[in-house]
Order: sequence, then C-alpha cells, then structure tokens
Amino acid sequence: MNKRIYLCLAHMSGNEQKFIQEAFDTNWVVPLGPNVNGFEEDLRNFVGQNKQVVALSAGTAAIHLALIACGVQAGDEVICQSFTFCASANPVTYLGATPVFIDSEKDSWNMDPALLEQAILDRKAKTGKYPKAIIPVALYGMPYRIEDIMAIANKYGIPVIEDAAEGMGSRWKGQVLGTFGEYGVLSFNGNKMITTSGGGALICKDEAAKNKIMWYATQAREAYPYYQHEAIGFNYRLSNICAGIGRGQMMILDEHIAHHKHIAKRYKEAFATIEGITFHDAPSADYDSNFWLNTVLLDESLHIHGEENAYAEAVQGAVGGAAGVVHGGGSVHTDCEPNRNVEAIRMFLDKAGIESRPLWKPMHKQPVFKNAPAYLSGVSEAVFKRGLCLPSGPMVTDEDVDYIIASIRNAIK
Ligand SMILES: *Cc1c(COP(=O)(O)O)cnc(C)c1O
Repeated sequence: MNKRIYLCLAHMSGNEQKFIQEAFDTNWVVPLGPNVNGFEEDLRNFVGQNKQVVALSAGTAAIHLALIACGVQAGDEVICQSFTFCASANPVTYLGATPVFIDSEKDSWNMDPALLEQAILDRKAKTGKYPKAIIPVALYGMPYRIEDIMAIANKYGIPVIEDAAEGMGSRWKGQVLGTFGEYGVLSFNGNKMITTSGGGALICKDEAAKNKIMWYATQAREAYPYYQHEAIGFNYRLSNICAGIGRGQMMILDEHIAHHKHIAKRYKEAFATIEGITFHDAPSADYDSNFWLNTVLLDESLHIHGEENAYAEAVQGAVGGAAGVVHGGGSVHTDCEPNRNVEAIRMFLDKAGIESRPLWKPMHKQPVFKNAPAYLSGVSEAVFKRGLCLPSGPMVTDEDVDYIIASIRNAIK
C-alpha cells in the first residue's frame, strides 16, 4: 500500500467553490455577507432548540467571547475539563483568569460531575468566590454527562460553556451538544467534523446573547456616525469566503457524521477480537457520539514490535503534522508520557503509512498550567498513558480500516 492514511482529513462536497465564486462575483470579500448569514442559518437549523448562532474566526475565539460574556475577569477562576486540547483552557488565561482543572470519569473520559461539585465547594471555601464558568469538553466527540453537570451548575448559579468543538452533531439523549448550556462552542478547523479551512461558531440561547457576542466580535462599536468605543472588542467574525466553504460543508455534515459512526462500528467489531486493545465506545445509548476520532486503550502488558526502541530519539517537529512553528530540540521524555507500547505502535503504524497519535495530554500535566488548581482522580492521566487515536472520518474507507487492523495485528508480538 503506498497511500498514506491520515488521522482526519477534510472532505469537500463540491459545492464550496460555488459559494466562494458567488462571494467574488458580488464583491462580498469581507468578514460579513450573504455566506456568513447563510452559514449561520444552516447551523441554526442543524442545532435546533430555538438557538442563535454566531460564526467566528475560530473555536478558540468562540470560547474567548463566551468567557467575556459570562463576565470572566482578571483574578477570576473558570472550571475546565483537564483532559482536552489546550484551546479549551487557553482563553481563560487571555483574560487574566485562572483555569481550575477537573479530572475525567472513566466511562466517557469527560468531566467527572462528582469532582466538579467538590471543586466548586472547595474554591468557594478557599477564595470566597464561586468559579465564573464551567467548560466541559466532548472529547473525541463523546458526550459529557450534561444533565449531571447542568444540575450542579444550576445549583450554584454558574454558567456552562459547552466545548463541542470535537462534538459537532454528537447528542445527549437525542439533543445536539452545545444546546444545553449558556453557550456552545463549535470548531471548523481543517480536521474537525466540517471545515471552513479555519473557523468556529458560538451557539447562543437567544437574540440578545447573540447580539452581544456579535458586538464583541466586531470591535465593540457603539451606534454613532463615527467610531465610538466604550468597551474592548475583537476582530473575530468569520470571513464571507470561509463561510462559503462552510455552506458547502453543511450539505454533507450528516453524511460525515454517518461515516464517522460507520468507521467506529468497524473498529469496534475488529477490536472485540484483539486481546489487549480496547475500543473506546459510548458508555450507554444516552451517549450518541459522532466518533470524531476513534480511540483505543492498550493494556500495559501488550507487547509491540520495536518497543525496545520507543523513545530512543527525540521527535523532530510536532506529532500530528501541526501547521506552524514548533519548538525544536525537545528532550526524549517528560514526566507524563504515553507508555512504551503506545509509542511503539505509533511508530510501527507510521512506517506502514498510517498516522496515529497519542490522546490529548491532560492540562494539569502541562508545564504551562503547573500552578493551576486541579481536582484529580488519576483517570485522565491513566487513559492518556494507554491511549491512541486512529484514522477516522470521511476519507477513511472500509479497506483502510481493514489495513489498519491488519497492521495493528502485525505490530503485536
Ligand atoms: C479544535 C478545538 C478547539 C478550538 O477550535 P479552533 O477552531 O481550532 O480554534 C477547542 N476545543 C477543543 C476540544 C478542540 O478540539
């Protein structure tokens, strides 16, 4: 096999260029316009629940604005799931606030509601204030225990910002993620469920909330014939060109979700017959995951060819082919890293032309967040050490899955 199989590649409907051409033909080459409005309408129809949606330049921007709208200021604390991509927590620090990290529960790998309540009470006791917001994350598309989280949030009057960047189209008991809390975050980065090349959106509960976000996203302009500013705003609106891509993508979102789930089913069936590797499945029928990325856990006792050479050399560049600048010259080890057999299987698959990747390293184990309070059970760290993400998404075929499974079988000693 000479093609390379990637973790999650974008897939076009073929209609994207039509919307982009229209933008050029009508000279709407700006961060607003008919494609932005059309894309927002498509998103609104998709999420339902009478919600409003604001299209933004990134999911990270959506989290940033949601925090501002929740009144987060310097010196405040915001509760965040520790097991996540850094973009869930970084915007908290943009505001001079401190993230308080919550560990995961073992079934969904998402925010543990018991630890959440413990943390809320402990922060109140220690600082005299409640945290200003709660950010649960649909890791790899898996729903969080939103009913339990909402019950706790409502008990203490703390708004929930759902980070559904990876969970677009995932549902809890049939309701789309991002529509339960005060705000819901979506991402359209290149490798998410749909792409606008880069972009995001914030799901808002009503027109007033939407207008407030829109105002912050467009430099906080007051209604005068000249530019009058009474608050600090941001340039976070989505471009009309990118929104054109989004409109094309919305035509195949359902197809993408169905395909991700189909690939998940194939993996699940295959891993049921492989000893030492467990497919991360939904804990019950309440959790309707989009399976954005399929993930597995390797038993510590599983032996992989080449594991004696795992971590023999420092990795050059970022795993995952991240765009942009990566600091070089890293050391081989950190104080919290995937087990040797996980690194060995990653290297084995890489040689076979298959991209795989460790799970997100928990934020409470990141040097940059070493001073942030954390409420821990050990679950996310244990899962991180044993976990691996496998190729998923619309570009992965049934034959690819067969080849990936065969390669994994070959990798096992
Ligand atoms: C991708 C992602 C984001 C950020 O989205 P961008 O559009 O890349 O800024 C936030 N949270 C999680 C969990 C993500 O995976």
